[in-house]
Amino acid sequence: MTALLSIAGLTAHYGDFQALFGVDLTLDQGQTIAIIGANGAGKTTLMRAITGVARVTAGTVTLDGEDITRHPAPDILTRGIAMVPEGRRLFPSLTVEENLMIGAHARTGNGFWTLDRVQALFPILKDRRHNPGTALSGGQQQMVAIGRALMSNPRVLLCDELSLGLAPVVIKEIYAAFPQIKDSGTSIIVVEQDIGQALRVADHVHCMMEGRITLSGRPADLSRDAIHDAYFGVS
Ligand code: ATP
Repeated sequence: MTALLSIAGLTAHYGDFQALFGVDLTLDQGQTIAIIGANGAGKTTLMRAITGVARVTAGTVTLDGEDITRHPAPDILTRGIAMVPEGRRLFPSLTVEENLMIGAHARTGNGFWTLDRVQALFPILKDRRHNPGTALSGGQQQMVAIGRALMSNPRVLLCDELSLGLAPVVIKEIYAAFPQIKDSGTSIIVVEQDIGQALRVADHVHCMMEGRITLSGRPADLSRDAIHDAYFGVS
């Protein structure tokens, strides 16, 4: 089976600073993978390189057999890769519903995710649909950000640090929606510093350190010691 998303030898720079060193990974249709790693490991840069935002200096990103390396970000979105950015980045002057509808502008054709389905996934977004997005709690704002990305009917959903700054009970509530997102056929990459959450949600986990993938495997096959060493480095 050809992978839906395939990343090979991906290298990225900020000016002279090299942030990614030949990263390889694949994402299959319907699969959820997690990228874990400490602050500065390169997780966000990897997401930004996939979505055409970071400066890719070598390697390729292939979606459904098509080379999309260095394509402009809007083109990558309309081809079916949507990002839930770290910090949510809602539009403060728009209501919850208007924020969700922003995502619909990138829709290509019909797909599973409609406003009704997003509101059924997170019912609070229907109750609060006329509120300004920024009047919601952090967890509710995260739901808006996920809903907005789903409104583009992505084939691949990239989620950057969903749990950052949220209480454990709220994190649990957000991740409770993931089986439904997965069942819709959407493939998912989650970037997480919360290792426990990553291991629960993912079919496959990659650990990054200093711009490289240092460990990969299915959650059940990875020992705590191996994850610790790959996450923090072996001294
Ligand atoms: P975090 O969890 O803190 O977001 P991360 O694993 O996502 O960490 P990145 O944000 O990808 O890590 O950062 C990887 C490296 O690139 C770090 O050393 C960081 O300082 C550097 N970096 C990130 N963004 C920039 C930028 N805009 N300009 C220069 N260097 C950057």
